[in-house]
Amino acid sequence: MGVATVYRNIKSMVEEAILQEVRLPGENPRFEIAGHKHHHHFQCTKCQRVFDVHACPGNMSRLAPSGFTVENHDLTLYGRCKDCAAMVAT
Ligand SMILES: [Zn+2]
Ligand SMILES: [Zn+2]
Repeated sequence: MGVATVYRNIKSMVEEAILQEVRLPGENPRFEIAGHKHHHHFQCTKCQRVFDVHACPGNMSRLAPSGFTVENHDLTLYGRCKDCAAMVAT
């Protein structure tokens, strides 16, 4: 399979909502299997790996200007993953 074919397959899976596109600023889009619950991501600033964060601060409507309606939010935490934090400590 050529790269173009793979890309087309990914694209059609995204359209069928099997895969979900995850865009992080300054990163190539990533894809993950859609359907798991609303969650967030943690990106390690050292190894650049992205982890799922299964926690949510909840409704952020109060952060929006008055009169605006929040429909969704996207949240990415940045820092050191467990492995990289351990490397710094030693
Ligand atoms: Zn790391
Ligand atoms: Zn959330």
